Amino acid sequence: MDCPKCEGSLVNKTYGRKITVARCDGCSGLFCKPEVLMEMKEEWMSEILDMGDRKVGKSLDSVRDIQCPECAVAMNAEADPKQTHIWYEECPQCNGIFFDAGEFTDWKYDTFMDRLRDIFKGRAN
Ligand SMILES: [Zn+2]
Ligand SMILES: [Zn+2]
Repeated sequence: MDCPKCEGSLVNKTYGRKITVARCDGCSGLFCKPEVLMEMKEEWMSEILDMGDRKVGKSLDSVRDIQCPECAVAMNAEADPKQTHIWYEECPQCNGIFFDAGEFTDWKYDTFMDRLRDIFKGRAN
């Protein structure tokens, strides 16, 4: 599959038993399905898949109007409802999600911290 954001191509990478993502060999953007994303959120250290240069990811964050590498339909830019500084692209057809390099780690880590905060709050009550 071709990367929707640069000249690179998406190469399948696996982590653990259940996680397979497509990662760009150019910009290191990640493309995955929501169910895989949920697995990655739970899996300790899965952010190792997101090894790209954050600066490259940031510079590509402004690239909009991309097409899904799988379905070739226009993807929608969505801001994470909780972390509005994180923008990712979502495919309306296959629900595939594209993260720029560094965005997944940001997303996962903050989510993890949010959960810790919730646990802490729960204890305090
Ligand atoms: Zn790329
Ligand atoms: Zn798609």
